[in-house]
Amino acid sequence: MKNLVILGSTGSIGTQALEIVDAYSDRLKVTALAAGSNVDRMEEQIRRYHPDFAVMYEEKAAGDLSVRVADLPVTVLAGMEGLQQIASLPEADVVLTAVVGMIGIKPTIEAIKAGKDIALANKETLVTAGHIIMPMAKEKGVSILPVDSEHSAIFQSLNGEPKKRMKKILLTASGGPFRGMDRETLFNKTVKEALNHPNWSMGKKITIDSATMVNKGLEVMEAGWLFDVKPEQIQVVVHPQSIIHSMVEYVDGAVMAQLGLPDMKLPIQYALFYPDRLPMDMPGIDFFKLGQITFEEPDLKTFTGLKLAYEAFKTGGTMPTVFNAANEKAVSLFLAGRIRFLQIADLIGEAMGAHGAVKNPSLNEILETEKWCYEFIESRC
Ligand code: NDP
Ligand code: MG
Repeated sequence: MKNLVILGSTGSIGTQALEIVDAYSDRLKVTALAAGSNVDRMEEQIRRYHPDFAVMYEEKAAGDLSVRVADLPVTVLAGMEGLQQIASLPEADVVLTAVVGMIGIKPTIEAIKAGKDIALANKETLVTAGHIIMPMAKEKGVSILPVDSEHSAIFQSLNGEPKKRMKKILLTASGGPFRGMDRETLFNKTVKEALNHPNWSMGKKITIDSATMVNKGLEVMEAGWLFDVKPEQIQVVVHPQSIIHSMVEYVDGAVMAQLGLPDMKLPIQYALFYPDRLPMDMPGIDFFKLGQITFEEPDLKTFTGLKLAYEAFKTGGTMPTVFNAANEKAVSLFLAGRIRFLQIADLIGEAMGAHGAVKNPSLNEILETEKWCYEFIESRC
């Protein structure tokens, strides 16, 4: 039996992870759950999965939840302290990090310090603090198992091969809802249109990141940290059908790929049970119905966020934090109707231009940079 902690249990990844618990309740036990403010869904989850601990990041939500579940033997905690506490519970085996944004950094560090394996969905943590997380995980002997579908595909394609045999990573991208459009067409795109992803159903932030292709930029950096590769070794390939989830090219020219229907349950389940591969109640790919799969080069002139991500990755230090924090802030302003779609990438570029990168930043310097960046973006709008 594996004891599971889910940070972000009420979200898209979190709820799909709980569906895997439903299918494998003989192998997975929910030890603790955490969310931001969604008390209704958290109460439902507590009544169904009986965790020992539940965290609401917002104090008021934690207060409300305590009253609602007073009849149950669950300890309700609040805030960052609560997240850090459940991430390092002695009885926990694996922590699924499925919160959105840099809020994931501190609990992930606590979990690694306490020797927990990490099933990592929260890419923003690795993008901004990969230089802290990866060496710490190595030192503590914990596994960082990718949940992101592309990284899971790369992980599966690398299985059993030493790294020196890898030539490059081919990171696939659907291209999002605005693939093939130019900047003029994108000028007036609404929140509703940007949220209409053709292949994946995900949380709002990552769905907007997919429309700007900033998500792919974050994934380039995520792959860099997870697989210890340079930016030049990661090539983004637009593949609109989202059937090939990514590929690895080896030194002899052989290419290994992982294919599957666009459904996050597979990579989540693979991370939770690795190195096992367990049955899943899902239809396979019908290749005859699919007919063809196609590939395109990414349009970096229109989707400038992807180009900026490579620049941030090459500069390193605090620059990926600026890239990420500027994006987090700009996406929330776009969702609130305060800026236009194209301004998201433009603001990231402005913030990067105004920042002098600090090499090998401490956690404090990363969080200071995040704060500076939020204020910078706010002052521009
Ligand atoms: P959602 O927006 O659907 O869910 C986010 C979760 O985080 C919710 O449970 C939310 O709680 C919780 N949360 C938000 N703020 C806090 C906080 N301050 N403290 C604690 N919990 C908080 O996001 P997704 O599931 O789509 O994405 C989660 C992560 O996984 C992201 O980093 C994303 O990039 C990554 N990812 C997602 C994929 C997907 O298919 N969705 C695919 C690959 C990666 P509440 O409901 O209370 O707000
Ligand atoms: Mg992905």
